Amino acid sequence: MGRVVVTGGAGFLGSHLCRALLDRGDEVVCLDNLITGSIANIEDLFGRPGFTYVEHDVSTYVWVPGPVDRVLHFASPASPIDFERIPIQILKVGSLGTHNTLGLAKAKGARYFLASTSEVYGDPLVSPQPESYWGNVNPIGPRGVYDEAKRFAEAMTMAYHRHHGLDVRIVRIFNTYGPSMRPDDGRVVSNFIVQALGGRPITLYGDGSQTRAFCYVDDMVDALVRLMNCELDPCMPVNLGNPEELSMRDIARRILELTGSDSPLEYRPLPADDPAQRCPDIGLARDKLGWTPRTGLDEGLGNTIRYFTGIVPCALREARSANH
Ligand code: UDP
Repeated sequence: MGRVVVTGGAGFLGSHLCRALLDRGDEVVCLDNLITGSIANIEDLFGRPGFTYVEHDVSTYVWVPGPVDRVLHFASPASPIDFERIPIQILKVGSLGTHNTLGLAKAKGARYFLASTSEVYGDPLVSPQPESYWGNVNPIGPRGVYDEAKRFAEAMTMAYHRHHGLDVRIVRIFNTYGPSMRPDDGRVVSNFIVQALGGRPITLYGDGSQTRAFCYVDDMVDALVRLMNCELDPCMPVNLGNPEELSMRDIARRILELTGSDSPLEYRPLPADDPAQRCPDIGLARDKLGWTPRTGLDEGLGNTIRYFTGIVPCALREARSANH
């Protein structure tokens, strides 16, 4: 048990992670600038012993008083709709934010943990993607701001490891879903559930044959905590995700069935550089962490649908009043 700094701690993954760390007895210092994170995600943590929240943009100088055992850098907008809305902030938090938080870890003698992404593989030409694959990224396309920021972040993290001897972990996170996703996040699972619950058309981009593999958030957090605490020699990035690959048409059908919705499918143009396929090779995680995802798709979607059922009427009301 120790004192852990979590950047992006009020975000979707970060907030689940803060909760899991507190549950296991760690002290948590949560940093977030609330650009995409939300206090609602961490409201239940404020009264808990060992939890501190600081509103801060880690793209600027970061300092946390007192001892720190782990620095977990999870701050970054991560949805494709953010790539067009706030591209510069994404580049800054992936580059400057990574540099600043690496500096904090070095000054404190802490272990550093970088949240990287399957997006470092771009539109992959091999499937499933092992960690040894170098990727197929368009650096100047709309997704390049996120992909290249994370590729830079990985390079910077490895440089601190090699040059300064910093103890580091890098996780490449594949598509993850669950409660606390933003209803207007723009990603496929939240979009389809919110549309299905609101009786609105399900927006399938392209012909819906592109694939992804979806990991339930509890499984992801379990693996993140294992990776944060495992011994890994040599240091190398580790893929985490659920290797069950589905097309977007399949996921639309599952969500329509589970919500009992009769929303029609509406086909929209495929966004630029949208990867045709994505599926993790999780051999390394199985081997090093003894981890495998446990939550089936229907169970995970069921929990996520229940979460959105609680908040969607309010989100729909807000959207309607904004339109008037
Ligand atoms: N997608 C879709 N309809 C939506 C949102 C997304 O068909 O309303 C597709 C998107 O084009 C992509 C896949 O779903 O092929 C996953 O998109 P998401 O934004 O969730 O994450 P990505 O894996 O692309 O980062």
